[in-house]
Amino acid sequence: MKMDNKTKLLKALPKVDECIGILIKDSVPAAPARVIKAVVQNAIALEREKILRDDPQCGERSLVEWVGIFKRNIALKLSPHFKRVFNGTGVVIHTNLGRSILSKKTTDSLAQAGGYYSNLEFNLETGKRGSRYSLVEDIICELTGAEAALVVNNNAAAVFIALDTLANNREVIVSRGQLVEIGGSFRIPDVMAKSGATLREVGATNRTHLYDYERAITENTALLLRVHTSNFRIIGFTSEVSAEEMVVLARKNNLATMEDLGSGSLIDLSQFGFPKEPTVQQIVEAGVDVVTFSGDKLLGGPQAGIIVGKKDAIAAIKKNPLNRALRIDKFTLSSLESVLREYFDTAKALKNVPTLAMLTITPEELKKRAGRMQRQLKTRVDRQCRITIVPTISRVGGGALPEFGLDSWAIDMQPHRMKLSVFEKRLRSLPIPLIGRIENHRFLLDVRTIQDGEIKELVSVLAEFFGSFAEGDGEDIA
Ligand SMILES: *Cc1c(COP(=O)(O)O)cnc(C)c1O
Repeated sequence: MKMDNKTKLLKALPKVDECIGILIKDSVPAAPARVIKAVVQNAIALEREKILRDDPQCGERSLVEWVGIFKRNIALKLSPHFKRVFNGTGVVIHTNLGRSILSKKTTDSLAQAGGYYSNLEFNLETGKRGSRYSLVEDIICELTGAEAALVVNNNAAAVFIALDTLANNREVIVSRGQLVEIGGSFRIPDVMAKSGATLREVGATNRTHLYDYERAITENTALLLRVHTSNFRIIGFTSEVSAEEMVVLARKNNLATMEDLGSGSLIDLSQFGFPKEPTVQQIVEAGVDVVTFSGDKLLGGPQAGIIVGKKDAIAAIKKNPLNRALRIDKFTLSSLESVLREYFDTAKALKNVPTLAMLTITPEELKKRAGRMQRQLKTRVDRQCRITIVPTISRVGGGALPEFGLDSWAIDMQPHRMKLSVFEKRLRSLPIPLIGRIENHRFLLDVRTIQDGEIKELVSVLAEFFGSFAEGDGEDIA
């Protein structure tokens, strides 16, 4: 009996050539023949597999239904996989959503770098070969007070090449409380092992003293390292050795010092109510030989690993053959320069670097933005969805202060005829996917991470979405 049904279903599968013929005649817009063929073959093969393993979801379909499936799959295949999204999560430095976004001025610099030849490695004065780093090195030095600077692919690469240069085959002393794992399996002990340095952990998880470092120093010690604990906090009875103390001890013993700052802010954000964090300038000032930080966390630039510090140490890192493997491209270089230039005027940086603007915008302004969005949404989708505004808490995200909460406002959307989980999922498949969060049975869009310039588009996208299930269409009722 069962066998018969299977055979029947297999027999009912459409013929590949026939389907391709229909699709080509239907002139699926501009779809290359090979895409049409691949889509048809895959869909039918998948269905055949399902039938063979008695998947309850398979059943007979008409040719018209099949053609509909093929067309949807072709459209999916032809649309870019890399997509812009609306970030309604309120997480400003959201690693999964691309961390920092760039200003119009900065993205213009990306278009210049891509569309034209440039002086990437060409010295316009001498007419000879130049160095790509020299274009940003002086700016970084001026902003941080460092003697020299270098930029590599990301901060993980910065830590890796610095350890490989300064401590290969030798020992690095780190506090137990700082052996951090950053998301995506970047673990300080593992990076160190790969770089050929040997880890000497000292102290206890919650407390490490200067004498712990001192006692661990041997002839084989190369470096004293401090790592920003970024994504976790040890609270209570704690103590760590400061950068200044570490430098004094290192100098006495002729050792190098390094600090992985993680986020590395150039602006003291405590003036805006954030917990006090050392700035890059302060760590450089403390005399640390090598300081590393990310380009796309609190700095608000492109993905990059910025290495600053003393001339000799940086020169040695520049000469490391790994430098070529970890080097940045012209897009990173042009956008990083553009962002760094904003920092010459702190007020401008706070306004023009989107990450900083999002972090420092006031709750009052956010409430106004939420109100504007609410009014626009109400006129478009009021019949299908209840729109209110509610206070909420945003998060800084990646790197330093990840869990630090910021008072914010959100659009609370309650669709009348759809489960929240279904709603949330559908918003993720919009032409510009909309990512929000479900909290206490409410779907929230935190307006902190939605730019003023995006509101009109977002409202249109939502209006179109709700418009596509005009009244009477009873699907998805909770
Ligand atoms: C984020 C972070 C890193 C990794 O930086 P990427 O730029 O993401 O490679 C390394 N160390 C610390 C302390 C961090 O916070």
